[in-house]
Amino acid sequence: MTNLDLYTKDKENYLPTFNRFPLAFIKGKGSRLWDADGKEYIDLLAGIAVNNVGHCHPKVVKAIQEQAAQLMHISNFFVSPQQVALSELLVKISGLDRVFLTNSGSESVEGAIKIARRYGHKHGKGGKVISMHNSFHGRTLATIAAGQEKYQKGFGPIPTGFAQVPFNDLAAVEAAIDDVTAAVIVEPIQGEGGVVPAEKAYLEGLRKLCDEKGVLLIFDEIQCGIGRTGKWFAKDHFGVQPDIMTLAKGLGGGVPVGAVLCNEKVASAIEFGDHGTTFGGNPLVAASAIATIEVIFEEQLCKRATETSDWLRGKLNELIAKHDELESVRGLGLMLGVKMKSEAKPYVMRLLEEGIVANATAGNILRLVPALNISRDELNIFLEKLDEILTETTVSA
Ligand SMILES: *Cc1c(COP(=O)(O)O)cnc(C)c1O
Repeated sequence: MTNLDLYTKDKENYLPTFNRFPLAFIKGKGSRLWDADGKEYIDLLAGIAVNNVGHCHPKVVKAIQEQAAQLMHISNFFVSPQQVALSELLVKISGLDRVFLTNSGSESVEGAIKIARRYGHKHGKGGKVISMHNSFHGRTLATIAAGQEKYQKGFGPIPTGFAQVPFNDLAAVEAAIDDVTAAVIVEPIQGEGGVVPAEKAYLEGLRKLCDEKGVLLIFDEIQCGIGRTGKWFAKDHFGVQPDIMTLAKGLGGGVPVGAVLCNEKVASAIEFGDHGTTFGGNPLVAASAIATIEVIFEEQLCKRATETSDWLRGKLNELIAKHDELESVRGLGLMLGVKMKSEAKPYVMRLLEEGIVANATAGNILRLVPALNISRDELNIFLEKLDEILTETTVSA
């Protein structure tokens, strides 16, 4: 079947929740993708910051194949060696104390909110959670309540107990904290909001404020974690340790797995029966996550992401100097946003025609979240194509 056949069939059966491109991908290797018509692409989106070690990394593929043949799923009533090893690894790289494994980012944030509320209620507070304008925490009911208003429209009643304040505004958080506040949740780098990093003083201030007020600090590192920014977690750039941290996206190397991590103080509020999951962290996805983390260690992908980022930013700055359409580049490591004068979507479409998969977010931001091991040759091809496209007289939507 061709791209168009598949696109048409998809439209017949799938809920129309996505405005998909008329493209079907059938194969991936590293930072390359192939569509159903046989065309090859360079992937700068990596499944939205999921394929951090590239598509079908041999070590991840092998781990999944071997685990699939051995044991895929047991109930969480039982222990598995893979889950034990993954939890130990996550504790080691995060500096937090406890792990709960989930199936997605939204579920990780749901878990974080539940844990924070449980802690809040046990410590004479309430369940209120303060989140930031332009944040994104997922698409379930509680996570849309914490996120941007545009995703809440038409889905009422929206869960209560959430308050939103401007991002990077410490005084606003301080004013919003009251007697019933359990937690503050923030993305150290807002992803869907347009690749906007938090200021160091802001995160440090949040840590201090939360400690003073007995409120928990939650970092949503679902997009910026797992080596994405050139460190294991974005928090490591800021030197601020949250009480609770959420992960997903890059954690599994492509399989659906997420995690909520917390410190012992928070964990002590949780008892048997407080939370659960059927699939969460089953042997299959845990094996894939272990292999993914090992690849990041073995191939020193944090260091590589930093070096590639420094080089890429230099190249992007040359294009910014040359083309009026480009304004600036921001972000950390290989989580970069190029701010454009106009909408980024038409440029994403033109790049796709040229065999480059990128993404537009927050209107005029061209988001680049490639695999951490993408090559400079591959990035050079993207830079040349972008240069060519920007040199064209008109780009139409
Ligand atoms: C993607 C994302 C989520 C939601 O993850 P899903 O797996 O789509 O549920 C939550 N928070 C952040 C910061 C994200 O980038």
